[in-house]
Amino acid sequence: MTQAFAGSDDSVASNDLPQQAILPRESSNEEEEARHVRIVILGTGFSGLGIAVRLKQSGYEDFVVLERAADIGGTWRDNSYPGCACDIPSHLYSFSFALNPQWSRMYSSQAEIWDYLRHIAVRYDILPHIRWNSELREAVWNEEEQCWHITTAQELLTADMLILGNGPLSEPSLPSITGIERFEGELFHSAQWKHDVDLTGKRVAVVGTGASAVQFVPQIQPRVGHLALFLRTPPWVLPRGDHPIPKWQRSLFHVLPFTQYIERSRIYWRQELTALGLVYRKPILKEAVKLAQRYLERQVPDPLLRAKLTPTYALGCKRILLSDDFYPALSQPNVEVVSERIREVRAKSIIIEDGSEREIDVIICGTGFHVTDAPLPQHIHGRNGVSLAERWQGGQNAYLGTTVTGFPNLFLLIGPNTGLGHNSMVYMIESQLAYILDCLRKMDRQNLQAVDVWPEVQEAFNAEVQRRMQGTVWMSGCSSWYLDANGRNTTIWPGFTFEFRRRTQRFDQQHYNVQCRKTLPPLGEPAAVGREKQ
Ligand SMILES: Cc1cc2nc3c(=O)[nH]c(=O)nc-3n(C[C@H](O)[C@H](O)[C@H](O)COP(=O)(O)OP(=O)(O)OC[C@H]3O[C@@H](n4cnc5c(N)ncnc54)[C@H](O)[C@@H]3O)c2cc1C
Repeated sequence: MTQAFAGSDDSVASNDLPQQAILPRESSNEEEEARHVRIVILGTGFSGLGIAVRLKQSGYEDFVVLERAADIGGTWRDNSYPGCACDIPSHLYSFSFALNPQWSRMYSSQAEIWDYLRHIAVRYDILPHIRWNSELREAVWNEEEQCWHITTAQELLTADMLILGNGPLSEPSLPSITGIERFEGELFHSAQWKHDVDLTGKRVAVVGTGASAVQFVPQIQPRVGHLALFLRTPPWVLPRGDHPIPKWQRSLFHVLPFTQYIERSRIYWRQELTALGLVYRKPILKEAVKLAQRYLERQVPDPLLRAKLTPTYALGCKRILLSDDFYPALSQPNVEVVSERIREVRAKSIIIEDGSEREIDVIICGTGFHVTDAPLPQHIHGRNGVSLAERWQGGQNAYLGTTVTGFPNLFLLIGPNTGLGHNSMVYMIESQLAYILDCLRKMDRQNLQAVDVWPEVQEAFNAEVQRRMQGTVWMSGCSSWYLDANGRNTTIWPGFTFEFRRRTQRFDQQHYNVQCRKTLPPLGEPAAVGREKQ
């Protein structure tokens, strides 16, 4: 069913959110006993909100959502840097069950996406389920009770099921550069932008050139006195072609929702075509290379600067960046592109490899996130007390990116090898939601208490993923955040997204070790056959 959002008759602007609902919950008192809920969800980004909405739509009300911050939104709450926007068109980078006909641009801004998510939380009545300022500290599977014991910053909970939507890009990573701790100016990460730092006329250093830097550099360049962009590996940049969505088209989407579904499908299949090149390395990438080279030539007339900006690895090996204004910003007289390695940061300057020094007032790190080394897996303990981090010592992996053997009733949203270099993550999240909901339905129908994927099933899946990964562009020799410390790609799905959708369409119970409830099923419900390998 299509829902109309921002701008439509039933729209709710973010400042209309019930304030009491978005304020942090009062700290519970310390003697409080663990409260039992059926399902605990972690996070209020697309993943956490998505599963919460789907649960409600399916009649499940007994769940809480833990959020360590005091507002919803995940990525789109935290990344408030100037110019922050999606790089997958908004018609596709949104829930299929909650299309927004009023997106103002092809690639909407952070504020608009955040508003959309806040709106979803209100519209589907998710706010009363959310525990604010409730960081998950520890979750331990209790074998005897067959449930999760969860400690948050606020309370103790037990839950039959734990669904992690903590986000693959939610832990900002700062660079380890000699002397950085001695820097006396302002220093911050792009995901923790300090809006109170006035950059006007300042000497600013930008470290890192990923998807965030290409968005904020053109925004701050006109304001700063001098901008030194420290760029060791120039990214591949393609034109973004962003534009406002005309009013007539928004009205059309509003009045005839199927037209927006058609537009969404068009975008989906266009994006999906890229997988041909990335995964199977078909000639399609050669065309993209030519396009990127022509774009660089056209936008950067200075041959010296162009040489510094010419990528030296296969297109697609790192994330392809889309920008209409990055190159022109770098050609401005107040910008210097520095390709040399930073040797040292001093109190008020940066020294580079050739010994020269740049006086700096502010350092902005666009240095990405802890992806394969995030802290949460250390705090999730499955059977026999083994933590996810321990289980993943040889590299993170999960069956269908969703379940891990030895961790019953635990579901990971955007788990290992579900990331994309070419399409919308919301599509992947929705595929996983269908899988989890089908699992819940089957558990209810058969009176199951716990499901735990068989180790050999997970191993076979992981072996398949790693085998298929070998021929992909992501393994063509560059170093990227897609790879873990062992050089294994444990983040990206090595195929078409429709294949992932097909494989997660139904919960494949035969691949799970199932545990029946100890109590009798409700009348009329079939009893489970017992714990057996199916
Ligand atoms: C700047 C930027 C732009 C992006 N653009 C795109 C795009 O255009 N297209 C695309 O497909 N993807 C994009 N992504 C990827 C994006 O992260 C995903 O698309 C999606 O938003 C992830 O949603 P999520 O809910 O899984 O995680 P998040 O949005 O990161 O939400 C995780 C939530 O969990 C909470 N949390 C984490 N740990 C805990 C804990 N221990 N206890 C309690 N709460 C916790 C966090 O506070 C957060 O609210 C982008 C990412 C970034 C950083």
